[in-house]
Amino acid sequence: MTSATVLSNLGAIDAAHHLHPFSDMKKLNAAGTRVIERAEGVHIFDSTGKKYLDAFAGLWCVNVGYGRREIAEAVHRQMSELPYYNSFFGTTTPPTILLAQKIASHAGGKLNRVFFTNSGSEASDTWFRMARVYWKALGKLEKTQVIARRNAYHGSTVAGASLGGMKWMHEQGNLPIEGIHHIGQPYWYAEGGDLSPAEFGLKVARELEQKIDELGEDRVAAFVAEPIQGAGGVIIPPETYWPEVARICRERDILLVSDEVICGFGRLGSWFGYQHYGVEPDLAPIAKGLSSGYLPIGGVMVSDRVADVMVEELGDFYHGFTYSGHPVCAAAALENLRIIEEEGLVERIRDDIGPYFAAAWKSLESHEVVGEAESVGLMGGLQLAADKWARRRYAKPDDIGTLVRNHCVENGLIMRATGDRMLASPAFTISRSEVDEVVDKLRKALDHLR
Ligand code: PLP
Repeated sequence: MTSATVLSNLGAIDAAHHLHPFSDMKKLNAAGTRVIERAEGVHIFDSTGKKYLDAFAGLWCVNVGYGRREIAEAVHRQMSELPYYNSFFGTTTPPTILLAQKIASHAGGKLNRVFFTNSGSEASDTWFRMARVYWKALGKLEKTQVIARRNAYHGSTVAGASLGGMKWMHEQGNLPIEGIHHIGQPYWYAEGGDLSPAEFGLKVARELEQKIDELGEDRVAAFVAEPIQGAGGVIIPPETYWPEVARICRERDILLVSDEVICGFGRLGSWFGYQHYGVEPDLAPIAKGLSSGYLPIGGVMVSDRVADVMVEELGDFYHGFTYSGHPVCAAAALENLRIIEEEGLVERIRDDIGPYFAAAWKSLESHEVVGEAESVGLMGGLQLAADKWARRRYAKPDDIGTLVRNHCVENGLIMRATGDRMLASPAFTISRSEVDEVVDKLRKALDHLR
């Protein structure tokens, strides 16, 4: 086959040989896959030449936008000089060290160390073991149980999917594994009933306290949550939620874990999501925006509280990946963070494009099928409603979200739907006119539900 023939047959080859993540392969093969060939700025182009505005930054990750030659050059330089060496057995590499320092410089407070992984899922497995190891090293052998939330997403590895609160994931593979418990989520629109958002925020935070009482304080190692639940539908917690969670963890001596895989590195207009909500976790898994998705890299930010015990008491931590702190991925991440700093992208989200996006997104609430349209920084969640005045949801949320998403895609806009919620998470570089385009196209797609 010539390369031209291969390219024109990519769809068929894909169907024959490639199993996609999170996909119903029978349906996908029938519908045909969309092959994305190139990208620039906030736009992606498929193999038919069709252009889309990617309002989702890939998978919440291409935060500095596509086509950054500087990152490609940094990767090329590092690959030529040292393509690989590991951080096991007494060695490491310069970009790995400098990246750990750079992350700590933005973490603020006591999160001064980083353990590197290749992904957010591995970061979940890593902190899960760290939390147990921490308490064990302190002689608290019973402190092994972990509390997480319904409808959370923390990855697809066995521990990651168990920590996540997606029932349909648990059903595949007999999850969750032993020792993981789920409490409610701060999803006021669907579950708040007659309570005000502030009252509801306190109520769901206090479910943590009830679960700790039920399990016994001496048995609970940690509580994990995303600052804003991402894949669960951009569930933005009421302002009362996080301070109460932090209070409970502090008073009951439970490690607080903030999953920063989406919110980390600027998305909310602060370097980390926990800073936006004014709390300080003990452990914080990261990935995605660390390298803007240019190469796979993740990690766990570790507070002095945990790191000091690991360093002073533990001895070997029998955990790590061949590619933990991979020098080429670290070089990509360093260049990505340099761009974010030098272009002032976090400040841009906080002071300029974030407020602009918030106003444009909020304007969708005037649409008759929109229950609410909320955002923080460049992370937006829009609730579809069958009856917005009665706060009544559609009977088949998945179908309705998929319908809107498909209309967006047809019209050249990449949006994600989770059930009956539309999610946006564009690159930090998106312009005002591109924000307008996202909102206009989404509004047109919503018109199909009238
Ligand atoms: N944690 C959160 C909050 C996520 O959104 C994700 C992925 O979407 C993960 C963890 C898992 O990250 P990865 O897909 O890199 O394994």
